[in-house]
Amino acid sequence: MRFGIIGLFVATLSLAACGSGSSSGTGASEGDMLVVFSSRHYDSDYALYDAFEEATGVEVRTIEADGDLLVERLKADGARSPADVIVTVDAGRLWRAEQEELFAPLVTDELDAAVPAGMRHPDGLWYGLAKRARVLVYAPDRIDASKLTGYESLADPAFKGKVCVRSSGNIYNISLVAALIDRWGAEKAQKWATDVAGNFARDPLGGDTDQIKAVAAGECDVALVNHYYFARLMNDEKNKNLVADLEVFWPNADAGVHVNVSGAGVAKHAPNPELARQFIEFAMTEQPQRFFAELTNEYPVVESVAYKNAALETLGEFTEDPISLAKLGENQAEAQQLFDRAGWP
Ligand code: FE
Repeated sequence: MRFGIIGLFVATLSLAACGSGSSSGTGASEGDMLVVFSSRHYDSDYALYDAFEEATGVEVRTIEADGDLLVERLKADGARSPADVIVTVDAGRLWRAEQEELFAPLVTDELDAAVPAGMRHPDGLWYGLAKRARVLVYAPDRIDASKLTGYESLADPAFKGKVCVRSSGNIYNISLVAALIDRWGAEKAQKWATDVAGNFARDPLGGDTDQIKAVAAGECDVALVNHYYFARLMNDEKNKNLVADLEVFWPNADAGVHVNVSGAGVAKHAPNPELARQFIEFAMTEQPQRFFAELTNEYPVVESVAYKNAALETLGEFTEDPISLAKLGENQAEAQQLFDRAGWP
């Protein structure tokens, strides 16, 4: 059962009224209910909920709200919150939820073994479910690919008036710059952001898909986007022509490509923490991990999982920045100030 933001308040009341089943700790059983608060609206996640219901007999109820609204809702509900599991995108948003003390720690041998150390919170407050990479998309007929190396390429004077990227308020950009501060130091990251803003083809406008479309339309020649937006267009019969003449460049230089996660943690006031644990462990098993790659074009966080996805295969291999994602939040405020000084709206 799914609820959007409109149904949130009513949903909260009705869930509180009908209780949440047993939480005996001896495993899930028919009649139990798990409540997932999620900011994701993807087929991979619905397939995950269905598979968990099938495997355990537990009913999954989801309440969806976008990014920061989800955190606001959880804060407002406090100890009355019906949420068992919190799912959101980007380690920067997981950090914000962590700062609001919305998570309860969860550490298990299964999760330690499945999820690489850099892709989870050190105290088990959250775990990456699936990975995304921030990449360059360019028009090879207008950009000399030999000039592309890493993120620093976007600051190259050769690309003056050619760069498209979304606004600096977006968490994807904030987390990337938080990683670049860690990588280069604040001074170099500041110069980079200022130079990139000086290369803009236009003021930031729209989301990542809009930046890809702007490159396709000739409004700019290179854009900074998350890889799955490009892969989604590649895999879509109706839209694949749009990206047929564009390329993805992996910014492998220096420490490698900025990789981030969608993640999940146990809610601090979870009525069913034991079911929450089972759900998060289930999400790391092979089939749900494949859903993320095959239905949403993300990469499994569990490295041993094989999957089929024509677009991801075409995009090929890349070098991941090994930074621990838990560190991104620490640089978040500095990243925001740096954007302001750079004149990157
Ligand atoms: Fe996204």
